[in-house]
Amino acid sequence: RKPLVRVDRLSKDFRISMNETLKAVADVSFDIYKGETVGLVGESGCGKSTTGRCLVKLYEPTAGHVYYNGKDIMQYTKEEQKEFCKKVQMIFQNPYSSLNPRMTVKDIVGEGIQLHTKLSNRDAEVKVQELLEKVGLGKEHMSRFSHEFSGGQRQRIGIARALAVDPQFIVCDEPISALDVSIQAQVINMLKNLQEEMGLTYLFIAHDLSVVKYISDRVIVMYLGTIVESADSDTLYKNPLHPYTKALLSAIPVADPAKAKTSQRIAITGEIPSPINPKDCCRFAGRCPYVMDKCREHMPELKEVEPGHKAACFLCE
Ligand code: SF4
Ligand code: MG
Repeated sequence: RKPLVRVDRLSKDFRISMNETLKAVADVSFDIYKGETVGLVGESGCGKSTTGRCLVKLYEPTAGHVYYNGKDIMQYTKEEQKEFCKKVQMIFQNPYSSLNPRMTVKDIVGEGIQLHTKLSNRDAEVKVQELLEKVGLGKEHMSRFSHEFSGGQRQRIGIARALAVDPQFIVCDEPISALDVSIQAQVINMLKNLQEEMGLTYLFIAHDLSVVKYISDRVIVMYLGTIVESADSDTLYKNPLHPYTKALLSAIPVADPAKAKTSQRIAITGEIPSPINPKDCCRFAGRCPYVMDKCREHMPELKEVEPGHKAACFLCE
């Protein structure tokens, strides 16, 4: 089985001064298969959004490659680039800043249709209506401006915009974290239904594991620009191996208080170290309760511990 998206040793640096480089993403590899949802999880600053932006070509990698359908996305011809712009979309974290407040819903959602299809104005309008219905907004909203909508409604408009050109792959960058808790589940369920209906593939970025649990087939955990663990969802939640994943999971509130007492809570101590000029050691060493001498001298590689389950920790070797 060939992956739809292959990320191969991707790195993205940002030069912040003469001798300071922020290594936002450092040597990250993973695959995404058609029709699945891969959750990409980690604290803010771990490089998950930067990875997502490299996948949709908003950023150019410093090193490594992103392949879409087997082809390096940086090597596209003009025609291939046009196709890529249709097939690959992004839904942004902040529905307040990602939509132009002075554009009508019809124009926001219709922009991509105008750009990428030869539909007549009338047909384009019908398509916009259909898209709005798909995301639970009536056509009576067509000529309203995006600033007139609530956060949840704006995110629905953002989703309709992403769907307008019949994409295959969508990077969802924390699509619900700016929304009211009461509507988060609605938006997640909508994304799930749309995926089934339209055969979409998602990279779903979130900062905590509870959010991706219900939507992801596989989960990748990032810490300071590197992948520390990846597995299918069931395995990751039942049998986490990396101390950082365990700590993230123990921070999820447990519904059953009896369970909460017996389950071990792992406290992460210390600050997240800076990704600027990082040392060549385990990047979690400064906060890990199990740190050993070698963790401070060498960087553990991401290795397969059991089929489909990878972790980067000397304890797992
Ligand atoms: Fe902790 Fe060492 Fe494993 Fe890093 S390699 S997570 S410091 S035990
Ligand atoms: Mg982010």
